[in-house]
Amino acid sequence: MIEVSHLTKKYGANRAVDDLSFTIEKGVIYGLLGPNGAGKSTTMNIITGCLGATDGDVRVGGHSVVDDPMEAKKLIGYLPEQPPLYQEMTPKEYLRFVAQAKGIPHKEWNSQLHTVMEKTRIVDVQDRLIRNLSKGYKQRVGIAQALLGNPEVIILDEPTVGLDPKQIIEIRELIRELGKEHTLVLSSHILSEVQAVCDHIMIISKGHLVASDTPENLTSLFAGTTTIKLEVMGDADAVRSLLSTVDGIETAALTTEDGVTRCELTQSGEEDVRAAIFTAFADAKLPILEMTRVRASLEDVFLELTSGEAAAIQPEPADTVDETEVAEE
Ligand code: ADP
Ligand code: MG
Repeated sequence: MIEVSHLTKKYGANRAVDDLSFTIEKGVIYGLLGPNGAGKSTTMNIITGCLGATDGDVRVGGHSVVDDPMEAKKLIGYLPEQPPLYQEMTPKEYLRFVAQAKGIPHKEWNSQLHTVMEKTRIVDVQDRLIRNLSKGYKQRVGIAQALLGNPEVIILDEPTVGLDPKQIIEIRELIRELGKEHTLVLSSHILSEVQAVCDHIMIISKGHLVASDTPENLTSLFAGTTTIKLEVMGDADAVRSLLSTVDGIETAALTTEDGVTRCELTQSGEEDVRAAIFTAFADAKLPILEMTRVRASLEDVFLELTSGEAAAIQPEPADTVDETEVAEE
C-alpha cells in the first residue's frame, strides 16, 4: 500500500531521517515507535506530502508523493502532531471546511460529516466551539477530519499524547475500531502504547529503522537474553570465584553492601543455571538470600535498540565495571 524507499531528510548537517525503507501492507495496524527526535514526525510528514524529502521516494498505492502528490494524498488521512484545529469554529463548521479543502463533492458533505462524526463519537459536541472541548474531544475532531474522504490509509502522529488515562483508553478503542476498515499507521514514543493496538511494530532510532516485526516476534527475538539477580551473604571475591565455577554464566556485575553481595548475571545459553548456582553456594556455605530470573521484555528490546549510540560512546566497556567496584571496597 505504501512503499518508503531510501528516504532521507537533512536539516543542515543533521539527518532527521536517514536512508529509511519499509513497506506498509493493506489492512494492518502499524506502530512507528521511537524516542523523541527519532524522526517519526518527519517521516509521517513526508509520507503525507506535507514535507519534501532530501532523497528517496514514497509511493502510496503506486503514486509517487514526489511526482504525483495529488493522487497519493487522496489515499491518506493524516492527523499531524499538532492538528491545525480552528478554535473559533465548531466541529461541524471545521469538518465542512476540511471537506471543501479535500475537494469532496458538496452533495456528499452531509452524509460524510455524519459518518465521521458517528465513528469518532462527536455528534453530541458538533455545535460547540472547538476551543471549549476537552483535549480528548479535540483529538477526536482531529481524527474525524482525517477520515473525511474515506481514505484507505489513516496516519496518526502521537494520537494519545497529552490525554488523561480515560481518554487514552477511549482513543485506543477508536483506533482499534478504525483498524478494521483502514490501514493504520500511528506513532508513539511509548512502547505500551503501540503494543496495545498495533499488529506490527517498526522501531526507529536516529532516523534509522532498527527493527520491524510483530510484537510477539520482537519479544522472542530477545527472549534469549535472560538475567539472573542474585543476593548472597558473603564478600565480592568469594562470590566471584564461586560464580567462575558455574558453567553458562556470561557476565557478572557485583556490588557489596553490609556483607551482602548483589549480582546481575547474564546466561550464555538457554539452559537454566539456577540449580547449579544454588549447589555451588550451598557447598561453600554462602547463603543465597534471593535469586530471581528475569526474561527480557519488549521494553528491554526497545531500550536496547534505541540506545545504540549512547552506549557506544560510554568511556568504560561494560565488563570492566565490576572490577572498578571491587577495587573501591
Ligand atoms: P520525532 O517525531 O520522532 O520526535 P522529529 O521527526 O520531530 O522526531 O525530529 C527528528 C529530528 O529532526 C530531531 O533531531 C529534530 O530536532 C529535527 N528536526 C525536526 N524538524 C526540524 C526542522 N524544521 N528544522 C531543523 N531540525 C528539525
Ligand atoms: Mg514527533
